[in-house]
Amino acid sequence: MRDQYGRSIEYLRISVTDRCNFRCVYCMPERGLDWLPKPQILSYEEITEIVRQLAPLGLRRLRITGGEPTVRPDLPTLVRELRAVPGIEDIALSTNGVKLPQMAQALREAGLDRVNMSSDSLRPARIAEIARRNLAFDPIAAATAATAAGLDPVKINVVVIRGANDDEVEDFAALTRERPWHVRFIELMPVGDLAGTEFERVVPSDEVLERITARFGPLAPSSGPARGNGPARYFRLPDALGSVGVITPLTHTYCETCNRVRLTADGRLRTCLYGDHEVNLRDALRAGEPLRPLFERALAEKPKEHELLKLRVGGLKALSEVGG
Ligand code: SAM
Ligand code: SF4
Repeated sequence: MRDQYGRSIEYLRISVTDRCNFRCVYCMPERGLDWLPKPQILSYEEITEIVRQLAPLGLRRLRITGGEPTVRPDLPTLVRELRAVPGIEDIALSTNGVKLPQMAQALREAGLDRVNMSSDSLRPARIAEIARRNLAFDPIAAATAATAAGLDPVKINVVVIRGANDDEVEDFAALTRERPWHVRFIELMPVGDLAGTEFERVVPSDEVLERITARFGPLAPSSGPARGNGPARYFRLPDALGSVGVITPLTHTYCETCNRVRLTADGRLRTCLYGDHEVNLRDALRAGEPLRPLFERALAEKPKEHELLKLRVGGLKALSEVGG
């Protein structure tokens, strides 16, 4: 399945809920959002049916995400159903990690391959401050549970925010020496409650790499984890078991290699994170209509690149401040 620019679409990100047990400052307002009413949300059977119809067109890899996917009941059931779809080779989960200690084993047994866990700090008070919820989240215990369950690779995503957690870059990098984890530092994106101050709070990835080099010495470029390399660039500390990576949505675009589409919790297929390009699969599915013409339309409309940078023409000075 290829779009008009020759990019093949083999990767689907599936949001199973818009709800979350955190309220990260860069993602959700404190009061939460206007949650989707349950009847509007795709059932596990409906999600699986969409995947079943996409698989013959080339879909191979899935990521379950949200909101926070682990707050939806019986998540292992969905994993098990998706695992049984012929052609699906790889199933990953994006989670804030809170429920990993209790769920990692069941998810692995259901057929989950790997996990991306978000953690913006290693310090309990800070975790609660950034997430605006104190759930006694212990990122080391959560990642350890994922590794022990056999999920591989385990990636840890850190959104770097100036003045909030940028002094922990070295601590996160140090984790990769002793553990087989892949820590990825993500540039803050200008959405959510940080609007207005966001550019001052962005820490460009080049600065992150400089900090790590200053502490640990020169970094060797690495191919990163064996599976699931998306838009990150990876490096390895001397003798490290894991790797460090940077994801640079703002200062470098990676649209030319984008091979992903997204399914929202209420069944809209979006072909670009930032644009308004989407088709409603849920209503067609519930009406018993074929989905293939909708997939084809969605792909035909997948934009060449996202418009985040263009939208901020007036912010060019700020962009140069974040490294161009
Ligand atoms: N709840 C899960 C989690 O936190 O991993 C999955 C959904 S969350 C929206 C997916 C990822 O988006 C997380 O790694 C989060 O840190 C990242 N994210 C959310 N808002 C962001 C922003 N404004 N800038 C950069 N990354 C962001
Ligand atoms: Fe957003 Fe994930 Fe944080 Fe929830 S845990 S608020 S979905 S980034």
